[in-house]
Parts: sequence; structure tokens; C-alpha cells
Amino acid sequence: MTKKVRVRFAPSPTGPLHIGGVRTALFNYLFAKKHKGDFILRIEDTDQNRYVEGAEQYIIDALNWCNIPYDEGPGKDGGYGPYRQSDRKDLYKKYADILIEKGHAYYAFDTSEKLDFHRKDHEEKGKTFIYNYHNRLKLSNSLALSPEETNAKIQAGEDYVIRFKTPQDAELHLTDIIRGDIKIDTNTLDDKVLFKSDGMPTYHLANIVDDHLMDITHVIRGEEWLPSLALHQQLYDAFGWEAPQFAHLPLIMKPVGKGKLSKRDGEKMGFPVFPLTWNDSVGYREAGYFSEAVTNFLALLGWNPGTEQEIFSLEELVSAFSLERVNKSGARFDPDKTKWYNQHYMQTQDDADLANAFMLNLRNKELNLPEDKNNADYVKQVVSLIKERATFVNDFWELGNYFFLAPTQYDEKAVKKQWKEDTAAIMTQLLSLLEGTYNFESENLETQVKQWISENDLSFGKVMPPLRLVIVGEMKGPHIFDIMALIGKTDCINRIKTAIAAL
Ligand code: GLU
Repeated sequence: MTKKVRVRFAPSPTGPLHIGGVRTALFNYLFAKKHKGDFILRIEDTDQNRYVEGAEQYIIDALNWCNIPYDEGPGKDGGYGPYRQSDRKDLYKKYADILIEKGHAYYAFDTSEKLDFHRKDHEEKGKTFIYNYHNRLKLSNSLALSPEETNAKIQAGEDYVIRFKTPQDAELHLTDIIRGDIKIDTNTLDDKVLFKSDGMPTYHLANIVDDHLMDITHVIRGEEWLPSLALHQQLYDAFGWEAPQFAHLPLIMKPVGKGKLSKRDGEKMGFPVFPLTWNDSVGYREAGYFSEAVTNFLALLGWNPGTEQEIFSLEELVSAFSLERVNKSGARFDPDKTKWYNQHYMQTQDDADLANAFMLNLRNKELNLPEDKNNADYVKQVVSLIKERATFVNDFWELGNYFFLAPTQYDEKAVKKQWKEDTAAIMTQLLSLLEGTYNFESENLETQVKQWISENDLSFGKVMPPLRLVIVGEMKGPHIFDIMALIGKTDCINRIKTAIAAL
């Protein structure tokens, strides 16, 4: 029987989740759902010094906003809890001890001053200090000391760490679903610390113990963890456990230049790098992005469907996704593309929801809006006419302010071009036509005005552009009769009168 797919997203709550982290979570989610498996959230908070208040809740809120909730995790027990490593604290020491017993790990008493000294000393000589087979017998640890000396130090309460004993002269064969086979010479590896004197495991030990205990079948994580793979595989081997399959996702790269996308890039170029606002960094949600746009653009950062398709709902992503189609090389972040996606998803939003958001916006502007134009139904109709050209709800006012307030000035260039000697007279005639029109629906208006134009031997060019100018104030906007029908007869008549007097 094949095992049920179980994947985990394992962030450390050291601050807000970067969108790269959201992408890792998304790929885990897609993979889990595709294989009818479980998506687990595990909070890796063993490094107490880097713990940031509120970060865990932020991670949970971000996953929920993106519509990629976890099946198991803090507050959702699936029988493998607790899901916060600080709550699992007591179980790790036992595993460190097992490794010592089996000869795969040892106690080390070197002080941080001593280690710093060695590091600096090596640096000065242009070398890197590695703690492993070639020098471990010259350092202060249970391999160099006798069992009695080691015991005495532990009894005396001396600080120690537990290090992994990397084998000498071996070649490791690692496999990554995305990167294929990787060979590593163990002599290049460090004896990494697994357990610290504060009684806490390091990331490496806690991570693999938990992946094992939580029956994780696939580890899908960022490329920055690829260098840890050698140690992790060796830990599985040392315990005699079956290792999960690994997939290391490519980095998300800066929009321009080299290197990975950072908070700085966002600040410099004016785009969010966090899903939700964190302190003074505005998030995608608060910047007016729809979560569908965010998950869609994130999915295509490093993964490709093998077709030209760019628009994917979450369900479509689930069925199309495969780790085999994740690229090895970094994925360049394109802020313009994120907007393109948002404009697309703007069209799929419910007008009533958009109207609600727009109304909040209008309220904040503290405008003195006329009664008939200050209600949900009216705003919803405005939204349906203007959203085609909008990327964000914040664009609505710029695109459609004339639906609410009559123009107080007219675009100069347009006036010069459209307002001729006979325009005032034509507009006055049009005024009486409109005054006598009782069915003010768009279609009827259009029929009436067109008929009037041809009956009076006028041209479209003499009527339509100036009409738009007086109603809108400039030469923009959707179908003019849709605008007129919506703002209503009285308003249209007033606007034409005002313009005749002003121009
Ligand atoms: N705690 C690690 C992080 O912050 C998890 C890496 C992994 O998925 O193994 O990303």
C-alpha cells in the first residue's frame, strides 16, 4: 500500500512571512491536494532568540487569506501534535542521546570564544574553519576526551552542545525531485550542532525528528535549505529511518539585477513583498490585491504548466501542478505582471463586494455626495461600468469620480478641440431633446439622440465628443449613454447647462 501523502510547511516565526514563504506553502498545498494528502503547518520556534511576537498568527492569517488553509497544525490536531516545536521541546533530547549511543554524535565543550578565535584565525589565512574529522580530535569534545573527563564536565554543569559526527571519506548520494541526483564528499561537511546547551534542539534535529514522527512523505522547501540536505539524509540514515522525498524550490529573484527578492526591492520599486501588512510594510491584501491574483502569480514563479495558460484558479492549479514541472533556476519576480493578474481578477469579482470596498473608500474621502448617488445599489452600477479598466479598487475614484460629482473644470485640450463656435447652440438643442425624453435608459437615449442627429443633419463628431466633455469633464469613460442613464436626467441637464454657461 502506498503511503498517504503528507507534506508540511515549517516556517520559523521570526517575522512576517515573505511571499517566497507563501509560495513554498502554496506548492506544498497544491501537491497535497493533488494527491489527496494532508497539508500540515508546523511552527519551528526552537530558536528562542529569534522569536517574534505575532509572527505565528501572521502566518496563519496569511495562509487563510490565500485560501490555502492547513489540514493539521496549531489549533487543528490531526493526531500528530503538538505542532509547535517549543511545545515538543522535551522529546528531542532522547533522539540526540540515541545518536550519541550509536556513535553518530558527540558532546562538544568548546566555548564560543574559542570557536570564534578559530574562525577568525582561519579567515586571516584565507581559509574557512570547518569542525570535522580533520580537527575534531584537537578540540574539546567527547571524542578527544576520555569518558571520565567527559562525564566530569557534564556533571560539573559545563555548557555543551551535541554535534553530528560526519563520516570521513564517504560519498553521499542525495536525490531531489527537482534537481535530480547530487553527490557530496563528506569531507567538505561540518559536524553540525544538533542540540544546544539551553536544552533546545537546533533546527536540523528538530526538523527531521518531527518530519519522521509526523509521517511526512515529501519535504518541499526553498532552495536555501539545499545545503542542509546532506546532513538531513545522514540523520535519517543514522536513525535507520526512511527519509521523505525532497524537493527544493528555486529562489524568487529580484525584478532587476542579481540576487534574491528582498524587502528592499519592494521598498525601492513600490510593491509589496508580504502577503499582509506588517508594521509599516504594506501587504498585498492591503495594497488592494485579490488573493486569487496572488496565488495565481505565485504559482507561476518557478512552476510552469507546460502550456501557454497563465490564468489558473486554485482548483485548476491543484489539478495541473506537479513537482516535475518546477524549474531548477531562479524565477524572476515581475511586479507589472502581478498587476496584470489583479486586473484580470478584478473582472471576476462580485460587483456588490467591490461596491462595498469602494464605498468605504468614498466614506474616507469625506465627500459630500448627493443622496441618490450615495447608496450601495448606485455604487454597484458604477463599479460594473468602470471595473474593466481598473486594477485596484483604489483606481475607482480616478476612473469614475464624475459618476458622483459634476465636473467643475474641463480638460483644456479637449475644450480646444471639441468646443466649436456652434457647439453651445447644438448643446442647447440637445438640452430640449433630453428634457422631453422620459425614458432615460441607455438604449433609448442612444436611439433618440442618434435619430435627432440625423434628422437635423448634424454629424456625430459635432455632438458626441462635446457631450462627453460636458458630462465627464474630459474625453474618458465607458459608453456615454450608459453614463448618462446612470447619473440620471436631472444631473445630465444640469451638467449641460453648466457647461454652456462656462465654455
Ligand atoms: N524552519 C525552516 C524555515 O524557516 C524550515 C525549513 C524546512 O522546510 O525544512 O524555513
